[in-house]
Amino acid sequence: MILNKKVECMPREDIVALQSERLKWQVKRMYEKVEIFRKRMDNLGLKPEDINGVEDLKKLPFSYKQDLRDYYPYGLFAVPMTDIVRVHASSGTTGKQIVVGYTKNDIKIWSECVARAISAAGGTADDFVQVCYGYGLFTGGLGAHDGASYLGATVIPASTGNTERQIRTMIDFGSTILCATPSYAMYLGEEIKKQGLTDALKLKAGIFGAEPWTEQMRKQIEDTLKIKAYDIYGLSEIMGPGVSYECECQQGMHVNEDNFIPEIIDPDTGEVLPYGTKGELVFTTITKEGFPLIRYRTRDICSLNPEKCKCGRTFIRMNKPTGRSDDMLIIRGVNVFPSQIEEVLLKYCSSGITTNYQIVVDRVNNTDTLDVFVEMAPDLFADDMASIEALQKTLVEKLRSALGIGAKVQLVNPNSITRSEGKAKRVIDKRKLAWGDIMIVKQLSVFIENKAGAVKDIANLLGNNNINMRSLQIADSKDFGILRLIVDDSAKALELVKNAGYTAKLTDVISVVVPDKPNGLNDLLKLLADSNIEIDYLYVFIGKNNLGAEAILKTADLASVETLLLNNYY
Ligand SMILES: [Zn+2]
Repeated sequence: MILNKKVECMPREDIVALQSERLKWQVKRMYEKVEIFRKRMDNLGLKPEDINGVEDLKKLPFSYKQDLRDYYPYGLFAVPMTDIVRVHASSGTTGKQIVVGYTKNDIKIWSECVARAISAAGGTADDFVQVCYGYGLFTGGLGAHDGASYLGATVIPASTGNTERQIRTMIDFGSTILCATPSYAMYLGEEIKKQGLTDALKLKAGIFGAEPWTEQMRKQIEDTLKIKAYDIYGLSEIMGPGVSYECECQQGMHVNEDNFIPEIIDPDTGEVLPYGTKGELVFTTITKEGFPLIRYRTRDICSLNPEKCKCGRTFIRMNKPTGRSDDMLIIRGVNVFPSQIEEVLLKYCSSGITTNYQIVVDRVNNTDTLDVFVEMAPDLFADDMASIEALQKTLVEKLRSALGIGAKVQLVNPNSITRSEGKAKRVIDKRKLAWGDIMIVKQLSVFIENKAGAVKDIANLLGNNNINMRSLQIADSKDFGILRLIVDDSAKALELVKNAGYTAKLTDVISVVVPDKPNGLNDLLKLLADSNIEIDYLYVFIGKNNLGAEAILKTADLASVETLLLNNYY
């Protein structure tokens, strides 16, 4: 079913003409309303009049995820807040959350984009759509919800969690279409199968997105739930789910090109690549009012196919992203995408392993290690040791040829890897956990008399002035001592102690997170010694988050120590 034939099947030249008009409109208003965009245009010597159509898109500056953090929360919005009717946010894995906003019209367009996706999966007003994406700041839940409403279907806003109740609801309410993350769909499928309830389902299709999944995973979901499984793509920065969607041909996802212009670029040079070539996906929003973005770098790696699809739609298709450039792991100098590992594993599902796996990357004795834990299916688990070892060996060989580096494979007992009801936590990079922060901090050194109560006086002074003291170290001699403090507001603290009559100064020191495990601190000391770096002093305190301990070190040459640590550990 094609929801909006007039648009979705528009001749290519008409799409390009429509995009050109809308791009001109967007560039003009963003130049007026979004400061950073105007500055970047000015830096390139560009004026809105220089953009006459899609052919000029490549002249425009890129925008980045970092922009959303730098202008948090509303600095990139292009309308007054009174016109914003909703915000969504995504936490991301690193740093501050990002915020996006929608006008009434943005929500309407978004709803139609998702409705097109549901319709392409065979959905109509007669369907019951169970939405198992998280509701709330995440775009998944409300995005799918609004799309199903737009279509006129009956929405079942189940949200995430409580699998027992999800299954009960699915059966009792007669859900016909399921919207969820693929990993949750797999999990639901396993549970339903285990309980022998597959035949009680009325499901006919599922629309799955928000995390990468492979063709083998699709097949497995289709087999366990007895449905046809469709892919949907989106990201909050551009809109949410429904930026592109699969039709019944399932040969790539049609981009809603009346609203978004996709490009593929070389992630290193920024150069636009020809159709069919793999590269970083970039989107320009040409109808978004509240939070528009020009040439947004998604970090997703895929390719585009402009050929007309058998379904009749003329919208360009993007292939399933094979990974995020952000997800890319650098292991012993080799680029590894978790999806490459998943692809290998899924080929052996019929040989006794499941799709529950976890990749653990660590660094031992200055060498990266790659461990892949895979759950066995119950029948293999019951099998003899020899066949388990044989399969393990096969997987090691296949991974080596797929990745170009060796990995250790461990087949583990069924149900021993934690399942996730939201997004799957497939990768644990312990190198990052252990060596999170390397930064230069200001340490406050205060000279005090070596007598009882001297430290307490300083601590009181800071506490009474609401200054957070994060670490304290005392070095003393017979008559005098030096108190070394890491405090939240070092400049104010310095002023306070000086005014109270103490001799004090601020010193630049390096703070580095070291792994809280045997040899964690040793490795750091060895690295410094091997590089002939002399340490004036060093002290360590244990961090509150169990990820590691924090070492503070003072040396004469901070800059070279910082470079050394960044090159070796981060
Ligand atoms: Zn199609």
